This record gives sequence, C-alpha cells and structure tokens, in this order.
Amino acid sequence: MDCLFCKIISGEIPSDKIYEDDLVYAFRDIDPQAPTHFLIVPKEHIASADELEERHKELVGHVFLIAKKICAEEGLTKGYRIVNNCKEDGGQSVDHLHFHVLGGRSLKWPPG
Ligand code: C5P
Repeated sequence: MDCLFCKIISGEIPSDKIYEDDLVYAFRDIDPQAPTHFLIVPKEHIASADELEERHKELVGHVFLIAKKICAEEGLTKGYRIVNNCKEDGGQSVDHLHFHVLGGRSLKWPPG
C-alpha cells in the first residue's frame, strides 16, 4: 500500500514520534500550526472518517483519550483542539485517517 502514514507507522519514513500503542501512532506534525501540533493516526489503514464503521467505535474513543493524555504531558492546561479533516472539502491531504491536536496558543474559530 503506497500510503505515507502507513510508511511513517512502519518506520520506513522517519517521524518525531511521541506515542505508540497497539491501536494508534502519534507524531509531531512536520508543519506545525501551533506551538504544539501533533497527529494521532490509527494503525489500521482507514482512508478517512467517512470510511469509519461500527467496529471502529472503540478506536475513535481511544484516540480522544490518548489526545487527553498527551496534552496533559505537554502541559496544555488551558485547552487544545482536536481536528479531523475529512476528504476533499474537509481539507484532507493525506488519505489515512488522522486527528490533528493543536494547542499552546489561543486558537481562532471558525476555520476558513
Ligand atoms: O488533514 P490533512 O490531511 O491536511 O493533514 C495532513 C498533515 O500531515 C499536515 O498537517 C502535514 O503537515 C502533515 N504531514 C506530516 N509529515 C509528513 C507529511 C505530512 O506531519 N511527512
């Protein structure tokens, strides 16, 4: 499978890893949009949030709990944002489901 994030998870492409378990892999975004900006990526290749199935319920919950854990370790006591860009109109550029986690500054709303 020619997938950038599958290659990052396997170690074929280097990344600044901050967390890994059986279900997810987290690493710092190569082009950070906030003082803290990392991605949480399910190890299973799921193309986008639009391809999620009933069986992924626990996985998605796990992603949010891992985000909370890492944000606590990063000292983001004032809050943070978890974002999923889904498909073309959602601004998704890598076709492997991932959740952005951003913090360390006051984030604006709404996005463009
Ligand atoms: O939501 P979207 O698909 O646009 O996000 C992809 C993200 O993956 C971007 O924020 C980009 O900077 C990041 N990226 C990365 N390392 C790479 C390639 C892309 O962190 N090698």
